Amino acid sequence: MIEPDKHPHVRGFGMASARSRARLVARLEQLGVRDERVLDAMNRVPRHMFVDEAMTSRAYDDTALPIGYGQTISQPYIVAQMTSLLLAADERPDHVLEIGTGSGYQAAVLAELFDTVYTVERIKPLYEQARRRFAELGYRNVRAREARDDMLGLPSYGPFDAILVTAGAENLPTALTEQLAENGRMIVPVGASGGGQRLVVVRRQGPSFSRDDLDAVSFVPLIEGHD
Ligand code: SAH
Repeated sequence: MIEPDKHPHVRGFGMASARSRARLVARLEQLGVRDERVLDAMNRVPRHMFVDEAMTSRAYDDTALPIGYGQTISQPYIVAQMTSLLLAADERPDHVLEIGTGSGYQAAVLAELFDTVYTVERIKPLYEQARRRFAELGYRNVRAREARDDMLGLPSYGPFDAILVTAGAENLPTALTEQLAENGRMIVPVGASGGGQRLVVVRRQGPSFSRDDLDAVSFVPLIEGHD
């Protein structure tokens, strides 16, 4: 947990950023985000610290923004929606895995809510930058790792109570469902890139898995296997 406006390293516009964040949170509420825990977490995480300096003035717009390398920081509404779905479990997940660290923003939101957050990223400079941000902002419960292209997820650190995939898979990635703990859930965008992606919730119940297909979404592709 951090108090950004008291934090010496937090860049720039202290009170202004708090006001912009509060406006964004009000907007998310208007859009139907109900979970107070999610709204509070998003009110605390300084999104402007997760985008390039040139993008600071747009950091609290409810839009995805480019973060370089053809990748994007997710739209706040989608971050809120995915995080709410993780919290909708009967038991609160402790051990959470995110695939696709990107800017690090979604991982920071998760870190406000869950005990331990593992996050993996396959683009080295993004991984390194996110790592620096977590250190600078004091997110000690985030374990950032560089992803290996021959292996999806982090099987050696699992099983996980929850897995959040922030890149779109063509098909349900079974390598990840195997890393779910009993009663664990995974939220993953699934479908052909360029249209038809949906947010999918997978729950593990004993030997079987249930699947619910939710809203249409649009994520950059999940890279599976070698380039
Ligand atoms: N959660 C991010 C959004 C990331 S965009 C944020 O809050 O900013 C999706 C990211 O997934 C990209 O950075 C991309 O490089 C990464 N990615 C794609 N396939 C991956 C894989 N197999 N393992 C780890 N990261 C992957």
